[in-house]
Amino acid sequence: MNKKELQSALASSHLHPNKRLGQHFLINDDIAGRIASLDGIGNGVKILEIGPGFGALTAHLIAKGARVAAVEIDAGLCHFLESRYGGSIEIHHADFLKIQLPDDFSVCVSNLPYYCASEILFKLAERYSVPLVYAMVQKEMASRLEALPGSWQYGAMTVSLRLYFDITRLFDIPPKSFYPEPDVYSSFLKLERKHDVPDATIVGAFHKVVKSAFWGRRKPIASALARSPHCPLGKDAAHAICVEAGIDSSARGEELDFDAYLRLARLVAENIK
Ligand code: SAM
Repeated sequence: MNKKELQSALASSHLHPNKRLGQHFLINDDIAGRIASLDGIGNGVKILEIGPGFGALTAHLIAKGARVAAVEIDAGLCHFLESRYGGSIEIHHADFLKIQLPDDFSVCVSNLPYYCASEILFKLAERYSVPLVYAMVQKEMASRLEALPGSWQYGAMTVSLRLYFDITRLFDIPPKSFYPEPDVYSSFLKLERKHDVPDATIVGAFHKVVKSAFWGRRKPIASALARSPHCPLGKDAAHAICVEAGIDSSARGEELDFDAYLRLARLVAENIK
């Protein structure tokens, strides 16, 4: 879909881009085609598309023979999609954050609404088992997701999402590829589900440890763990856990890598049994 086609779709459906819903529509067919040609997308593959908008990506997914289930919050857009693609895709008029679809997708593809991009990624991580997610996000969010320990972008979201996915940035997209143009560049990410996600107890402890570490940003990890409201371990237990995990108890949360967090979570899970 190019800019002219999009503007005529907006006019014929009497719609205006709704910024509150993160509506920046893709108007670059080369990028849409490139996305639909990525690994894992093909004939008969069951794909979840979140926020299809006017179907800029959807059309290319259908052309590849994919079976698309699309979740769109905007009633006007659902109406448009129904009239244009009704027979060939399954359309759910819903807030993706509020519905639960059958968990049987092979791939999720989304140009994510930026206002709730991280919530959607966590929902996909925790409530679905889809093995492959392709997601367009703001470039700044991509930088946070791929940040290394010690950098200012490294935070709780960086570490927490790494529990579920290996994340690769595939390419960046300039604002002029969207209508209306956003203020910032976007990045296209590949998220591959890890095979070794730990059991629920450790996942629960992991989130508590990460929240504690970044609650106590710039505090030594041992005192953050000892005093955080998320898992108040007390001074002695927090120090002992750091020693057992092979972590310098004076290191700061933002300096610890993913594996260090996982070691801490396993020990915290034992400690709070
Ligand atoms: N995929 C289209 C494209 O690339 O042109 C539209 C992408 S636009 C960035 C985000 C889309 O997500 C919009 O169509 C918006 O209405 C929809 N959306 C926003 N919040 C949503 C939510 N919570 N659940 C489902 N769809 C949502």
